[in-house]
Amino acid sequence: MAIDPAKMRIEGVYQQRQPGYYMVRAKVPAGVLSAEQALKVCEIAECFGKGSVHLTSRASIEFHWLQEECLAEVIRMLAAVGLTSRGACGGAVRTVVCSTPFLPCFPAVQVLASKLHLHFTGNPHFEGLPKKFKIGVDAGYAGGRHLIQDIGLVYAGEVSGVSHYDVWAAGGLGREPQAGFLLQEGVAEERLIPLIEAVIKVYQQHTPAGKRLKHLVKDLGQEGFRRLLQERLDPELTLSLSDGCDKCLTERPGAPPVAYLEARVFAGELSAGRMRELATVATSFAGGFLVLTPEQNVAFFLKDGIAAEEAAAVLARAGFGGGSPQERIPFRICPGNHECRMGLVPTRDLSLELIASIGGNGERQGWAIAGCPNSCSQPQLADVGIVAVKLTRGAGDEQLPLFDLYQRQDGEAFGKVVRQGIGLDELRKIVGQLGRSGKD
Ligand code: SF4
Repeated sequence: MAIDPAKMRIEGVYQQRQPGYYMVRAKVPAGVLSAEQALKVCEIAECFGKGSVHLTSRASIEFHWLQEECLAEVIRMLAAVGLTSRGACGGAVRTVVCSTPFLPCFPAVQVLASKLHLHFTGNPHFEGLPKKFKIGVDAGYAGGRHLIQDIGLVYAGEVSGVSHYDVWAAGGLGREPQAGFLLQEGVAEERLIPLIEAVIKVYQQHTPAGKRLKHLVKDLGQEGFRRLLQERLDPELTLSLSDGCDKCLTERPGAPPVAYLEARVFAGELSAGRMRELATVATSFAGGFLVLTPEQNVAFFLKDGIAAEEAAAVLARAGFGGGSPQERIPFRICPGNHECRMGLVPTRDLSLELIASIGGNGERQGWAIAGCPNSCSQPQLADVGIVAVKLTRGAGDEQLPLFDLYQRQDGEAFGKVVRQGIGLDELRKIVGQLGRSGKD
């Protein structure tokens, strides 16, 4: 029986650009992945894909080049190690992310992210939404990613032993970037699920199909949205999220300097062979867990007593020595038209070309390329963001991409467009200049 691609979205499956091929996106709450899960990921990529995976800027794992007949088996294999793709695409609560793995409160927020994931994933009350619904749980404000979530929770400390969170709402990037607003300050942990559920219900009831929460808030205004929320929200309801013991999957990052290592993964593209090496490092040095970061890299929190130099040497022997320009210059990249149906440019090829011209101080800045205005690689949060905005016809009738260029200054929520609709030659030239000038 042929599958219905529209119905498969809720299973985390999209049609790929190339006819007959599909992408499956697996959720990894807070990016925390066990070595066993990583090995299963390798097996899936080798058995059914082209032997590699794409790590996204939301710490999910994408398998490309899958054929229809293997989709059910891929989903089964994910489930065998406690992973799921349910709700990773379509109108559902997407991967619950943590963008601040290197802050000291990461243990607390990774546990919360995992609980929210378990609560919302596969729950029919929270599926069939007008569009995606993104939740982020952060250990602090560094990086500003709370501003791009439908609900962004930021750890605000403990009061009488109970964790509290600032709750931000209605952020998002895409074609109409909108920074989230502070919905409630210092919310006790046991009030989080009732509050998020009420937000989702308001969103579900009042938003047309295809629109995000940010569109509803834009239409109603923050006060109008708050009024609807109050009608939905039970002021007394609390749902305890406390544990019987001090849970945490990764080793605990101690007080700074945190003992961690990072494997830089160019463009988030990781072969199964290299991922196996990372799983081995996790097992030997990091308590059996690795962490997918929002920069599309892989981090390890080292066990007490582990010499970081020894672990770094093993990582370097596995090919993650950090010496190449692709490893040194931080570039977030979406798959672009290599695999994505929406893609206008081959993002990986383009980034390699630009990296060659950046040089100089380029590694002191964060860069991002998005293959279309959907902005999946979060270019508005990079120091320099590049977005392919459309294709135009060249003199020989060939299709030429045009780009918008963003720059983000310290303290700004999002980068601003500094050049609009520029061609590739101009982009190369500007990027070369920016790379040479760099940040102080
Ligand atoms: S930004 Fe566009 S091209 Fe890139 S992955 Fe997202 S939808 Fe595809």
